[in-house]
Amino acid sequence: MSSVKRSRSPLETPVQYVKGVGPRRAAILARLGIENVEDLLYHVPRRYVDRSTVRKIRDLRMGEHETFLGKVVTKGLRRTKSGESVFSLALTDGTEIITCKWFNQPYLTNTFKVGDEFIVSGDINYYRGLQTIHPEYERASDAEQLLHTGRVVPIYPLSEGIGQKQMRKIVRNALDLGLPCVEETLPEDMVKRKGLLARKEAVSQVHFPEIPKQGEEARRRMAFDELFYLQLLLAIRKKRMLTPRAGIRFDKGERFCRMLLEGLKFELTKAQKKVLSEIKEDMRGGRVMNRLLQGDVGSGKTIVAVMALLIAVESGYQSAIMAPTEILAEQHYLVMKELLHGMDLEVILLLGKMSKKEKEEAYCLMESGEASIVIGTHALIEEGVHFKSLGLVVVDEQHRFGVVQRAKFRRKGFCPDFLVMTATPIPRTLSLTLYGDLDISIIDELPPGRKKVTTRVVGENKREKVHGFVRDEMAKGRQCYVVCPLIEESEKLDLKAAQEVHKRLKNEIFQDLNVGLLHGRMKPDEKEKTMREFRAGKTHILVSTTVIEVGVDVPNATVMIVEHAERFGLAQLHQLRGRIGRGAERSVCVLMCGKQLSREARERLNAMAKTTDGFEIAEMDLRLRGPGEFFGTRQHGLPEMKVADLVVDSKLLVGARDEAFRIVNEDTDLLMEKNRVIRKVFMSKYKESLELARVG
Ligand code: ADP
Ligand code: MG
Repeated sequence: MSSVKRSRSPLETPVQYVKGVGPRRAAILARLGIENVEDLLYHVPRRYVDRSTVRKIRDLRMGEHETFLGKVVTKGLRRTKSGESVFSLALTDGTEIITCKWFNQPYLTNTFKVGDEFIVSGDINYYRGLQTIHPEYERASDAEQLLHTGRVVPIYPLSEGIGQKQMRKIVRNALDLGLPCVEETLPEDMVKRKGLLARKEAVSQVHFPEIPKQGEEARRRMAFDELFYLQLLLAIRKKRMLTPRAGIRFDKGERFCRMLLEGLKFELTKAQKKVLSEIKEDMRGGRVMNRLLQGDVGSGKTIVAVMALLIAVESGYQSAIMAPTEILAEQHYLVMKELLHGMDLEVILLLGKMSKKEKEEAYCLMESGEASIVIGTHALIEEGVHFKSLGLVVVDEQHRFGVVQRAKFRRKGFCPDFLVMTATPIPRTLSLTLYGDLDISIIDELPPGRKKVTTRVVGENKREKVHGFVRDEMAKGRQCYVVCPLIEESEKLDLKAAQEVHKRLKNEIFQDLNVGLLHGRMKPDEKEKTMREFRAGKTHILVSTTVIEVGVDVPNATVMIVEHAERFGLAQLHQLRGRIGRGAERSVCVLMCGKQLSREARERLNAMAKTTDGFEIAEMDLRLRGPGEFFGTRQHGLPEMKVADLVVDSKLLVGARDEAFRIVNEDTDLLMEKNRVIRKVFMSKYKESLELARVG
């Protein structure tokens, strides 16, 4: 035990042992994801306040944040009528007197002694003379080690129970402890070429720069590190997947594809043909396909995927399609059955909720190779699932899946080709980060004849009108979705809300219509029945939780009402809205919102009403919510970014990516002497992720 302790680098010292922390604050810091000294060094300031200019008190400017030096002339503690304590201090530097006031901090009277000199920073105002309230201060005799005033001061992200001053002190102590051990993580020539600071310098300057610009320079260096090593991981993964020995050459498929096309009621769009030829080229070639198929909702990704499945099947391999929800898997199953009707292929379904016996049957068909196409959910990557000859995996709505799941899937087959589909348009910076190892095909055109969806943001007072509108549309033979409010990720509460809305619509408002209910807790066959009835037009109005968010396709549904639309993210609303506007008729999406909308919420909803461009919406969403929320970076099994900001640092990201890919192209396993440092850092940081890369 003690030997372990001795060999620990100061950087790995738990925060608890940093001067000024202790167990209680350690718990608070843990909430910020800070566990050891190194984490503290990487806890970069949100911004800086420049307090480096110290002014004469006479020259202080009203309404400005200013820093000055002064001696304590008098001090006093009193109580107001309402029982608050006010501690005031008069300071002078000989030019003028200023009063500093603190409310409800009576203990400060022990901090200040008449005659002592302080450096003070605060907002200056005027009340019976110059005054500043709750300023920050430091003893002038500490000037050697100024932290809070008289310099450029860092402002940190905080957590309840810890203040800026404490945080600054803690970081300062962590720097004293850890900085000498901070090592360079990039080769010298790269640091020079990219005009970066040395790492040690950066780690120190990011906290206590001399001018704010230095702080930004330092942050840039630290962000580059993160982005570079992440891109390196992606580059290695991509390179390994491209190794020629691995790929299957799918050499057939013409016949099945022709049969499919002949049965369609429509022509493929130009964009569909383009991505299809990209996919075909990948599949025919000797390398493993690893492609992201991106296309706005309704752009017709399914048919493209089916063609890929058929190429694999006709070439003698099994193929699988994996969907994020059971509803969607069932939907794919039904669509597939219809499309492949007459081709004499065994298409089977595998869902988590199926009985043991049903599953066993499916497993059997998969293992024997009798099942040509398997459609399922996560159940496909469970233990005990085996294929005879899995050649292609299509993953629908990839943003719900992570690198980890992808890797697991790879273990199932020999080395299947991979096609991941997503309707969530991914801003370029993010796609480079999350899918840097994938090739990307984009369907940038909707099938002809689609009508734009009109979107209205509507308050509670218009509800009657909305009901009237729904009634009119139903009279024309159309159908309607009612999407229920999202309640803090709680499936149980979501369900309750949906049940209530359903009851009201069914029993009070639309007694003469058929109102269905769809939610995640229903049994698979109940869901299927509900969807079937809606698809067949037997149900007029379908009340649902967000389970219809992805993929469900009923062209006759032309109205969507989203209850409490302000609770949804933009990307999610866009996905939801994509359920309508699929037929030739005009479609309308009504975003119902609560009374008290924040400005941000109103902005978001208005944006939805203004544009139907998925990319625009995604960029906006990313800006409003940040990448963490946008995609939940964690679930992708990628290392978390502590410093880099994918929105702000997009240029840096591209630079880091170029460097990483250049290096990996030359030296895939990082074995060259000049890449020694990189290899060492990479192995220590991302060993776990590398395991995933290896699976590929
Ligand atoms: P998504 O890209 O959102 O998954 P789908 O694949 O579900 O979209 O397609 C949406 C609808 O458009 C389906 O009803 C599909 O049959 C239809 N569709 C696909 N391609 C075309 C096309 N080229 N012309 C007309 N309709 C099409
Ligand atoms: Mg789809």
